[in-house]
Amino acid sequence: MNEGIIVFATGNEGKMREVREILKDLGRKVLSMKEAGANPHIVEDGSTFGENAEIKAKAVWKETGGIVLADDSGLVVDCLNGEPGIYSARYMGEDTSYEIKNQNILNRAARAAGAERSARFVCNIAAVLPDGTVLHTEETMEGFLADSPAGGDGFGYDPIFYVPEFSMTAAELTMEQKNKISHRGKALEAMKWKLMDFYGRK
Ligand code: IMP
Repeated sequence: MNEGIIVFATGNEGKMREVREILKDLGRKVLSMKEAGANPHIVEDGSTFGENAEIKAKAVWKETGGIVLADDSGLVVDCLNGEPGIYSARYMGEDTSYEIKNQNILNRAARAAGAERSARFVCNIAAVLPDGTVLHTEETMEGFLADSPAGGDGFGYDPIFYVPEFSMTAAELTMEQKNKISHRGKALEAMKWKLMDFYGRK
């Protein structure tokens, strides 16, 4: 893969739209791993968001070379000892609905009040460069568990994540509002600057 092309290791189209929008200033083509013809078997057995992002990026890079990015993200709830954390996608099983997962988290956190309900979304992005060097960025979106689910937009844990700046849940924000303050938006933006620096050195 030539280094004017960036491959993003995801099969999720929604994520690809967000990634293309944020990285467009780089003026490079951004392909999903499917578009790049990569389909590695990935075992996410890292113990941090950064390790898992790197595992995904390296697995795809082994097939494509060039520049490969991957992200790993999740919800960290302080009063639940950081759960679901790196297990966010797998929490209560991949096939369990988020309605059930979200209600379960609220039930488990029922005794926590006020500041004890602090939580954050975390996103780590790993980039493997053509020579195999790995770069990372990590950002958070800070907030609190809502008292009850609210909002129909967004996905995953958005309905139970209360964002203090907007006094609403992440599922009540527009995509534009969320991208500006989200863990993934900020981590991608930071990675964009690192890649600009890489291209600038060429
Ligand atoms: P992955 O990083 O794509 O593997 O996703 C991790 C999981 O974290 C997702 O399946 C969601 O459960 C959760 N998650 C990550 N980011 C968000 C978000 O912005 N809103 C809601 N849930 C999220």
